[in-house]
Amino acid sequence: MYTDSHCHITCDDLYQRIDEVIENMKDVSSCMIMCTTEEEFKRALPIKDKDPKFKIAWGWFPGDAKKITDTHLAILQKAIDQNQIDCLGEIGLDYYWDTSFNDIQKELFIKQIKMANAANLPIAIHMRESTKDCMDILKEYAKTKIIFHCFSGSVETMKEALKMNSVISFAGPITYKNARQAPDCIKACPIERIITETDSPYLAPVPKRGKQNEPAYVAYVAKKIAEFKELDEQFVCEQVEQNFLNIFK
Ligand SMILES: [Zn+2]
Repeated sequence: MYTDSHCHITCDDLYQRIDEVIENMKDVSSCMIMCTTEEEFKRALPIKDKDPKFKIAWGWFPGDAKKITDTHLAILQKAIDQNQIDCLGEIGLDYYWDTSFNDIQKELFIKQIKMANAANLPIAIHMRESTKDCMDILKEYAKTKIIFHCFSGSVETMKEALKMNSVISFAGPITYKNARQAPDCIKACPIERIITETDSPYLAPVPKRGKQNEPAYVAYVAKKIAEFKELDEQFVCEQVEQNFLNIFK
């Protein structure tokens, strides 16, 4: 019944207890595993093979842009050509940690958007302290469906995002007391454009805040959305899952 559109269950931290993580997420009926390395991607393949509730996303992360060569892009292209991934991501721009290679990030971002366009794959967007550049690039280049992952921007930015062929994905931070913009964004976002995620192992929602996050905890995100929108939780979950599955149609 729950949907986790974005989790890193094949990263080392969660993969070392993967059987337990998957066992715990029995109520999560749709899930996308986000891979940022070839190793994480290879771990995800058999998980999806065993259970079709899993989808796989892979892309080169903006923070790694300096290390990414044509060889890396070719490896990713091979997975696309073999129909092994459902979504290209997470890709985007992250100016939070380091602004010394913004141009390299932009170049990598545009290259990967073009790869997604050619394969008609949706893209999952990581946008941190880079709203203007990120939105400009998406407007100019993106031709496939866009997932705004872990959205934490303003209502204004969200409205701009909604003009594109996109869905807005909310994560654990919407449950935090200091998430000032989240209630307004959720209220202003049509329910048909909302999806849920954990971004686990990061950003555990209240009441698990501070613990290692995992897909099972997406339930707290869904509950919070139902609360903000004053809608029945079951209805929200069904709608969110439908919104998520529609991305891949
Ligand atoms: Zn992520």
